[in-house]
Amino acid sequence: MSNKITIAIDGQSSCGKGTLAKNLAKELDYIFIDSGAMYRAVTLYLMRENISLREVSEDPALLGNIKITFHFDPERCYYETYLNGENVENEIRSMEVARKVSPVSAIQEIRTFLVAQQQTMGKDKGVVMDGRDIGTVVFPEAELKIFMTASPEIRAKRRYEELHKKGIHVNYQEVLHNIIERDHIDSTRDASPLAKAEDAITLDNSAMSKDEQARLSLSWARGVIESLATH
Ligand code: C5P
Repeated sequence: MSNKITIAIDGQSSCGKGTLAKNLAKELDYIFIDSGAMYRAVTLYLMRENISLREVSEDPALLGNIKITFHFDPERCYYETYLNGENVENEIRSMEVARKVSPVSAIQEIRTFLVAQQQTMGKDKGVVMDGRDIGTVVFPEAELKIFMTASPEIRAKRRYEELHKKGIHVNYQEVLHNIIERDHIDSTRDASPLAKAEDAITLDNSAMSKDEQARLSLSWARGVIESLATH
């Protein structure tokens, strides 16, 4: 019998959810799904096609033209996001998309469209998914839920350095402002606001290295898997 579990990682923007989730997936040989990339890909599609949020709310069938897939690049050990067959990994990380993604994610019709796909992707367990509503809405039954947090300044510094490493030149103040604004919209919206699930473990990583976080979360995951195997 498979004892694979579902791991839900939620938290604010740029607090290292993706890095932690990828690490866990690699160690456990699970699938990693970045749900934020899906909201970003929808945002990019709407920008390119000049479709307003009002139009989507009135006619959610417009979303039927969007196909989002992930392809694993073994050399970079990285999952890249494809929109209708095109690799959009770099474009969805741009500040232009970051500025528009939170209002897009507040639209219920868009959430319903993406949550259904996320649930299908994770139906066989053995998945680590990160986002804002994974432990509360997408996988409320997940066996391990982690809620991550860190100060806005630390998160902005990390995101700024990450973008610079990729050759995307941005201003630190702009990154900080975007993070604070996205946190606000994400946690105050009506549709599935960012919230800690009651049974989630909080991980404040403001003063933790990536290795420390990886070790700690892996020990939580192994603990859950073992306890399920002995029951
Ligand atoms: O995780 P990331 O910062 O890339 O997500 C981009 C945006 O997508 C978030 O600011 C949030 O507005 C939205 N999002 C969401 N629900 C998720 C994942 C992301 O609303 N499960």
